[in-house]
Amino acid sequence: MIEIISIGDELLNGSTLNTNAKYLASQIFDMGYHVAHMTTLPDDDDILFAGIEKALSRSKIVITTGGLGPTLDDKTEEIVTKLLPDGLKKLDNTIGSASGLLFEDQGLIVLPGVPREMEAMWQSVQPYVKERLASEILTYHKKITLCHLPELSVDPTLRELKKTLPAIDFGIYPSYGTLIVRMSALKPDVLEKATDVITAKFSTQVMALCACKAEEALHTLLIEEKKTLSFAESCTGGSLASRITALADASTYFLGSVVSYSNSAKEQILGVSKQTLETHGAVSEEIAREMLEGVFEKFGSDYAISVTGIAGPSGGTKEKPVGTVWVALGKKGEKPHIGLVPKTKSAHKRETIIEITATFVLSSLWRLIKYGIPPFEEDHD
Ligand code: ATP
Repeated sequence: MIEIISIGDELLNGSTLNTNAKYLASQIFDMGYHVAHMTTLPDDDDILFAGIEKALSRSKIVITTGGLGPTLDDKTEEIVTKLLPDGLKKLDNTIGSASGLLFEDQGLIVLPGVPREMEAMWQSVQPYVKERLASEILTYHKKITLCHLPELSVDPTLRELKKTLPAIDFGIYPSYGTLIVRMSALKPDVLEKATDVITAKFSTQVMALCACKAEEALHTLLIEEKKTLSFAESCTGGSLASRITALADASTYFLGSVVSYSNSAKEQILGVSKQTLETHGAVSEEIAREMLEGVFEKFGSDYAISVTGIAGPSGGTKEKPVGTVWVALGKKGEKPHIGLVPKTKSAHKRETIIEITATFVLSSLWRLIKYGIPPFEEDHD
């Protein structure tokens, strides 16, 4: 049993998001171990002392993060050495100043709060964790990322699988356009059987046999296929480019994005016609098409995507409500695929409309290249 204690007033007052606990929990989960408790404690001597003492009494490994530095609010070292006067070993901090602490016999690992320092030190202490937990039963996990599927379309298949393979625990985690099926079992072979069933059933919607983002799947595919990509973005405002360029080696295929937010940028940079803008409005099938033509013209990439929509909260009309997003995508020299981003209940806030749009077009292009499946039922001329 493992337990994580995050330390710091800034976590409890909402000024810092507790990413350390998330990082450690997912690392431990992937290793096959079980996190039984996760606690956040303030910079308070008595509370820290009692909290760490209790954790040590019930868990084989206790990991704390934060409060290790030299400033007045850093109390962790003082508290743990009061609690455990012997057996302290220093852990090198290869990136920052505060050393970590390891109490081998008691299973206490004390890590710094700065996330990248904590992560580096956690990597160095993993062999110790594995050794101390050598007798624990491991849980095996498998994740499958699916796209263009609502949860309720996947659920019946998982229910059937649960009947034939009851040793597996299933979870479905949807995330604005993709969803991850997580399976856990005490033996890896049943997970392979279930993976075969899921991939056979949803073959062209399986993005990866791991947790994967739409841009990561497209990134891998474009590198494999040695093809190039460009974007013309209006309402996504560069979000497509940002998601792609967050990935190392994007430069091997990504040529650029025109953030043509205003009508004048659409006209002057992408060559969209004034008349089309006046006749159909900036958020229209015709403008998505002309933006796509313009971006192919500008960059000469093998594939391109254009997006024009109303992310809100203002700007919607009866005919074109907030959430109306026209997209066009395709291959240079071929008929483009143009359509509206499917409406979902969660698409009611600006940031979710942008996120759903970006995930939809990135995964649509991935599916088009990988399987030749068009994103829209009816293709517009
Ligand atoms: P330092 O030597 O910098 O004092 P420390 O171990 O004392 O390191 P803290 O002072 O607790 O760490 O936190 C340092 C920084 O790390 C702060 O910016 C804090 O917000 C951030 N931090 C601390 N704990 C977490 C956490 N659980 N998740 C994300 N960030 C954290």
